[in-house]
Amino acid sequence: MNHPSLPTRRALLSLVTLGAASALGARAAEACGCEATTADIEGPYYLPGAPRRSVLLEAGMEGTTLELTGIVRAPDCGVAAGALLEFWQADARGRYDGRGMRLRGVVQADGRGAFSLRTIVPGRYLNGDRFRPAHIHLKVRRAGAGPFTTQLYFAGDPYNAGDPWFDATRALQLAPDHGGFRATSRIYLPG
Ligand code: FE
Repeated sequence: MNHPSLPTRRALLSLVTLGAASALGARAAEACGCEATTADIEGPYYLPGAPRRSVLLEAGMEGTTLELTGIVRAPDCGVAAGALLEFWQADARGRYDGRGMRLRGVVQADGRGAFSLRTIVPGRYLNGDRFRPAHIHLKVRRAGAGPFTTQLYFAGDPYNAGDPWFDATRALQLAPDHGGFRATSRIYLPG
């Protein structure tokens, strides 16, 4: 004779197992620093049609070189291979190219989700009566998901404080590199 409480016990056990698995998942995500990267505004200077290129630095371009390397991860912390990262930014004097593709480019992450960008540290520009801190705009596209738009900031920029969009979790740490700087970024796509 079947015990009447068995199905209930089974259901309960599977719920307990599910709960434990999701708690484990959450802990694993914390352990690997896989908190989803926060979104940010697109801003008024986005232009569609940026070319595929990982070098935005051009001969004679004013500014300090920046080698940005990073990794882009899927929502489950797995690899986001082949994701397309579109970058756009101001020049050293805080000006965007409103007609052309200067300092705009699309980079494809490799099979491990790694990407690199050679550019310059962007300048600040006035937004109303105050400067926005230096930042690089970024849009990530991957198969089966809408674009994810955010901005990368720079740790130590005096205009970070008080900027309505600044998020310290997206602030790059600059390290000196061959007369310029290098920085790394980890982008965890939201689910
Ligand atoms: Fe901007």
